[in-house]
Amino acid sequence: METISNVTPREGAPGNEENPFEAMMERFDRAADLLSLDAGLYKVLRNPERQIITSIPITMDNGEIEVFKGYRVHYNTSRGPAKGGIRYDLAVNLDEVTALAAWMTWKCAVVDVPFGGAKGGVVCDPFRMSQGELERLTRRYTASLIELLGPEKDVPAPDVNTNEKMMAWIMDTYSMHKRHTVTAVVTGKPIAIGGSRGRKEATGRGVMISVKEALRELGIPVLGTKVAVQGFGNVGSIAAKLMQDEGLTVVAISDKTTGIYNPDGINIDDAVEWIQKNRFLDGYKAGDPVTNEQILELECDVLAPCALENVITRKNAGSIKAKVIAEGANGPTTAPADAILDAKGVFVVPDILANAGGVTVSYFEWVQNREGYYWTEEVVNERLREVMVRSFNDVSSFAKKHNVNMRTAAYMLSIDRVAAVHRLRGVYA
Ligand code: NAD
Repeated sequence: METISNVTPREGAPGNEENPFEAMMERFDRAADLLSLDAGLYKVLRNPERQIITSIPITMDNGEIEVFKGYRVHYNTSRGPAKGGIRYDLAVNLDEVTALAAWMTWKCAVVDVPFGGAKGGVVCDPFRMSQGELERLTRRYTASLIELLGPEKDVPAPDVNTNEKMMAWIMDTYSMHKRHTVTAVVTGKPIAIGGSRGRKEATGRGVMISVKEALRELGIPVLGTKVAVQGFGNVGSIAAKLMQDEGLTVVAISDKTTGIYNPDGINIDDAVEWIQKNRFLDGYKAGDPVTNEQILELECDVLAPCALENVITRKNAGSIKAKVIAEGANGPTTAPADAILDAKGVFVVPDILANAGGVTVSYFEWVQNREGYYWTEEVVNERLREVMVRSFNDVSSFAKKHNVNMRTAAYMLSIDRVAAVHRLRGVYA
């Protein structure tokens, strides 16, 4: 038996440096205050539009029925269809999904793609489920949200522990209900069924472009600039490879098993080959071993946290030596750490800008699906570069104009853009 309910938006949560909703709201409040956002719009933008909780029954391989809890949150859809990934994880909860949906709202506005912000998740341990169980879970979750989804309404994408195969199942389930193929209902699909060329590399490519723009702004030469990258998955490994191709020296990399430091530089092509054969960095001897805490504090010019949330906190922010931080991961820096980095003069390219390459190429995928005409990888990459450079410059100009750091400027710019749309549209009824 399936239940879908609209629940009352929450009213804040207990003060906690690592609570993602708190972290997002603290930045939002500061930006709204600096913008002198009027009280009515402040209330509108501080609350999610819609929060769905759904129970997802599936038959497990052993014949027993299990019921999983799923969420989908539309934070704000004033600028266009809700856009945001779906994550499968035991830690998924409504607070986290809501914070991530809000982040998506601001991220889409920073890069000025015509989407609102959403996020979804299912509480499950995908590593203990078979492919068949994951397929049934994905299809039933999609079916339970069927009225919400659609190219004009809500367009999911992959997130933590979901991948292009699951996006194909979502596309197929939705299409079966509609009785015709609808590719634009989801992005991050395999290329054979309407995925975009360049999507897999887009977030890492965006991180690389942000780093280059930051170095240009600070007058630091690209060649030989030392960078440490935490996380060597999709975002981290591609960002590292592309930064190396641009002439930076990658002195440290890490994954959940270990970190490696080599002040002379690590050959990233070689490291990627090692990962393809061995899955993890553990055992890779390209330098000295370092922990995931140490990698953040190494001697380097650029730090790119590309793994987890809340890794730069009030405890370690003071020890960071990098001049530039480019946030490939979502929410790697806590709000109290922001102030410490700011006081030290560290130039932070915030997540909602630095990792927005992914949603930008998701937008390109949606456009290509609707056009029915597919672009070459060169066209995708060039258009992505244009969007990232323009967005970086928009944020940087806002920062200078208002005398704030890049994070506050990114929030101010995006809130300003969403608020402007609300003013034009007015309040219905
Ligand atoms: P991924 O699963 O491909 O890679 C994650 C990497 O982090 C892996 O190398 C993993 O070993 C490492 N890791 C896990 N736990 C760790 C730990 N405790 N310490 C250090 N490293 C650890 O994921 P991804 O797609 O590369 O995403 C990474 C981050 O980027 C996430 O915060 C994600 O939300 C964000 N992000 C991803 C995209 C995208 O398009 N993939 C877009 C925007 C933001």
